[in-house]
Amino acid sequence: MNMPNLSTSANASADLMEKIVSLAKRRGFVFPGSEIYGGLANSWDYGPLGVELKNNIKNLWWKRFVQQRDDMVGVDAALVMNPKVWAASGHLATFTDPLVECKKCNERMRADNLPEDLKCTKGGQHEFTEAKQFNLMLKTFLGPAEDDANVAYFRPETAQAMFVQFKNVLTTTRKQLPFGIAQVGKSFRNEITPGNFVFRTREFEQMEVEYFIPQPKSDEDWNKYFEMWRVEMNKWLSDDLKLNMDSVHEAEIPEADRAHYSKRTIDFEFDYPFGRKELYGLAYRGDYDLKSHQDASGESLEYTDPHTNEKYLPHVIEPSLGVDRSVLAVLLSHYHEDPVESKDSTGQAATRIWLSLPAKLAPYKAAVFPLLKNKPELVAKAREIYDELRKHFNVAWDDRGNVGKRYYSQDEIGTPYGITVDFDTLEDNTVTIRHRNTMEQERMNASDLVARIKSKLED
Ligand code: ATP
Repeated sequence: MNMPNLSTSANASADLMEKIVSLAKRRGFVFPGSEIYGGLANSWDYGPLGVELKNNIKNLWWKRFVQQRDDMVGVDAALVMNPKVWAASGHLATFTDPLVECKKCNERMRADNLPEDLKCTKGGQHEFTEAKQFNLMLKTFLGPAEDDANVAYFRPETAQAMFVQFKNVLTTTRKQLPFGIAQVGKSFRNEITPGNFVFRTREFEQMEVEYFIPQPKSDEDWNKYFEMWRVEMNKWLSDDLKLNMDSVHEAEIPEADRAHYSKRTIDFEFDYPFGRKELYGLAYRGDYDLKSHQDASGESLEYTDPHTNEKYLPHVIEPSLGVDRSVLAVLLSHYHEDPVESKDSTGQAATRIWLSLPAKLAPYKAAVFPLLKNKPELVAKAREIYDELRKHFNVAWDDRGNVGKRYYSQDEIGTPYGITVDFDTLEDNTVTIRHRNTMEQERMNASDLVARIKSKLED
């Protein structure tokens, strides 16, 4: 069977991006934000299917990196922290992008990320000002008075809470090094040029780990943990998200481009239709963060080695993952178009659009179809099966149109199984189960469905 994966074909292009954005809207994965008011530039809302996909990604990540490991614990911190946090972390002073403005049309752009086509709407090329540093922190005021004393910032990353709460986590969990603290949640950056769908937005979600290690005596002492996380991130990409790994690339960031405190940083990049760009980051941050917060707060953030009683600041390895970029990479990696033999009602050759989502990620694990919706006994039997399956996982119900159309409709949203309830079901409790990837159908007993679908969720 011909199953081209467009994300890797030579034709991968902006066209694919349009198809993904259109599918996302058409089927309820992602809607333009505030659409009835004309939208809000580059803001997006996850719809009924998008929230399922996104939650599945976050839950899988939490399971793999927190619940299934002895050396990890989680936190869920406030989005707005004391502004002193951002002074100490360096964000208020240096979390900036270079900004240029066209002297003719006043459009503002990121100087380090200028588009190839620099045509100005006022004619000719843009004429830019000198670049100045623009701070990306999203400012607000806490309380009723909008004065300097009440300025606060939405967090630009989830990471800082793990440093600020390091001592509390240590005393409550009695963890010993090495161990990590994880958090999933929203972050905010006043990006100069958001764009490319959910790739770069001003409000997004992150899944981050701060992994605390003993003070290293040699490069090998930290590099072995860095390598451990490098392997773990690759496993996440290949085993959980099941991305097309030919589209994933590791880029070692040269010293000149790294933060001054980082001895090693790797960007995990993905071949998006708009170019090879960052998906995730992995950085060795030394003891920069704990030291900065210890110095600024006056509170000791030292760890006492239980064997030697030595006190020191742990060092940190930080795997940092974007949820929205994960969603985008998953949709791109799993999008397929196949020609279909039969023609549609207009006589046009039809196309089967389907998402090869791993069952763990699929919004619905199965869809139940009563063969005919005007036969109450069929509908009642289908409903009974549907209600039983729903106790175990998320299941769709569809009784519109013919069964073939229902299969295609579920293919487009990545549902792994279609289950048809017909007159034989009433006699012998068997159903037709149709497999999304192969389109093959088989007859099986309805009482075996839960076990069958559950085994797929283990893949
Ligand atoms: P970029 O170079 O693309 O701006 P970054 O290096 O600033 O990204 P990090 O600070 O390393 O990003 O953030 C960690 C992760 O958070 C990124 O790898 C990405 O997945 C996600 N992320 C960062 N900024 C955004 C954004 N504006 N929109 C969506 N996701 C983002």
